[in-house]
Amino acid sequence: MALKDLFTSILAKPVWEDRAHTVIVGTGAGGATAARVLAAQGVDVLMLEEGAKLVTSERPRDVPGALATTMREGGTQASGDLSPLVVLQGRCVGGSTAINSGIIWRMPEDVREDWIANHGLAELVDAGEMDRIYETIEEELEIEETGERVLGGNSALMAKASAALGLPGKPITRNAARCEASGECLQGCPGENRQSMDTSYVPKAIGDGARLRTHARVDRVWIEGGRAVGVIGQALHPETRKPIGRFQVRAENVVVAAGVVHTPIILRKSGLGGLVGDRFQAHPGAAMLGRFDEPVRMSYGATQGYEIPMRERGFKIESLSLPPEMLAARLPGVGAEWQERMAHLDHYAQWCAQVRMKAHGRIRPGLLGPSISYAPLTEDIAKMQDAAITIGRMLFAVGAREVYPGIDGCPEVLRSVDELEALAATPWKRTQVHLVASHLFGTAVAGADPSRSVVGPDLQSHEVDGLYVMDASVFPTNMGVNPQHAIMTVVFRAAEQLAAKAGARRAA
Ligand SMILES: Cc1cc2nc3c(=O)[nH]c(=O)nc-3n(C[C@H](O)[C@H](O)[C@H](O)COP(=O)(O)OP(=O)(O)OC[C@H]3O[C@@H](n4cnc5c(N)ncnc54)[C@H](O)[C@@H]3O)c2cc1C
Ligand code: SF4
Repeated sequence: MALKDLFTSILAKPVWEDRAHTVIVGTGAGGATAARVLAAQGVDVLMLEEGAKLVTSERPRDVPGALATTMREGGTQASGDLSPLVVLQGRCVGGSTAINSGIIWRMPEDVREDWIANHGLAELVDAGEMDRIYETIEEELEIEETGERVLGGNSALMAKASAALGLPGKPITRNAARCEASGECLQGCPGENRQSMDTSYVPKAIGDGARLRTHARVDRVWIEGGRAVGVIGQALHPETRKPIGRFQVRAENVVVAAGVVHTPIILRKSGLGGLVGDRFQAHPGAAMLGRFDEPVRMSYGATQGYEIPMRERGFKIESLSLPPEMLAARLPGVGAEWQERMAHLDHYAQWCAQVRMKAHGRIRPGLLGPSISYAPLTEDIAKMQDAAITIGRMLFAVGAREVYPGIDGCPEVLRSVDELEALAATPWKRTQVHLVASHLFGTAVAGADPSRSVVGPDLQSHEVDGLYVMDASVFPTNMGVNPQHAIMTVVFRAAEQLAAKAGARRAA
């Protein structure tokens, strides 16, 4: 922002002011769930969202248009490391759920037990309470296993490969019972058949009396006498996205749910310190592509319909269909060789791995936006190599004539298992692997001990009364499975406790 704009926006009268009992920053898995619970209990809720409310049927179907409209930095947000980690996040009503594949997993029991034993979170992740909430969410968000009718060629071929190698594969459970197999989850479900937050909990909360203001980017929490009393931010022009003036909201409670990258930025700019922005964790992923003699027909089917969970080896393999533009960009070769591959665009399968890495990164406010640093450990890259080689073996097991590993310094095209095994023989380096992360955790972790956490078991800040964090930032560890269901469940639980407190105050 130009210096002149900065002064104008700070000194000028706010372009708008508002009041609410509870103001919620962000409308992703965490923020929308908090709004859904609080509004249902009669709490006066105002949701603030930096991005736009998109009408699903009007969302761009082409990939560049879709990424520019819905994703943070058009999908180019990355860490500042020498080998950057691409960090994908949604920036629109619904947050990252508006662009995700709807994969649903309950929190694994070993993760729950670790949170109790090592982070003092017994109340937050009480088994009985979580089961009750899982069931509510599963019913409300139409959660169902992907049926054969919509599995599509990419996932069906992966099922065969899994069986061929004796791996524990299964169809993916998703919040998309009415899926019509368009393979376009990234661009937004054309028929609103996937229950992302923009089509489920945000409208539900509004139906229960909550309000929503879009193009409202919160800069900081307004704190008076050690208590949160509201938020201050910039109203953005809906087309240019440039700041058009300051806004402020007064509230009794502030819930920050701006996601793992932006929640710590808001907290740090509000004067909070300690572990804020530390313990950033992820499930970075990489993919391999295989070419087959027979058509695979990746363009028909659930975007992600089949998975092979291998948590004991530290990863999970998933089918991942690509829109044609992205698939074309991934094909190796130039000139006639590339054109020949392009002519067979229907003959490719792509499977990816999400790796439960042990590395902890860090997020801090930077001059031009969040500064992200993340360096995978040697053992993390070894897990990634194990996962990628397993995908290669699977592709060859079901007859791939070519496999494209996408690993720097290695052949672009593999034509036999022997060539693949040669790739397995030497440990890969971080600089060879192109990593992308969409499952993010930490940066405002929950815990009973204030010296080891940012928020308590009720997700209220240890430092500032009335300030809550309700998104994936509070997760003290990653999980090895897709996170949205666990995020919604943990937030649901904490929001119920907050609603009970608000009710008790109203009654007093
Ligand atoms: C491409 C992709 C595919 C994925 N697939 C799956 C899947 O299939 N299954 C699964 O379980 N998980 C999946 N995930 C991960 C899952 O969507 C996220 O873990 C989850 O949505 C995170 O929830 P959150 O509330 O922490 O943040 P988000 O959902 O990212 O929401 C944060 C919100 O805050 C808003 N915001 C940020 N800063 C500000 C500010 N300063 N002021 C106002 N608003 C702000 C953002 O615009 C956004 O709307 C996927 C993610 C991506 C990106
Ligand atoms: S595959 Fe298509 S129809 Fe199915 S949930 Fe995704 S976007 Fe919706």
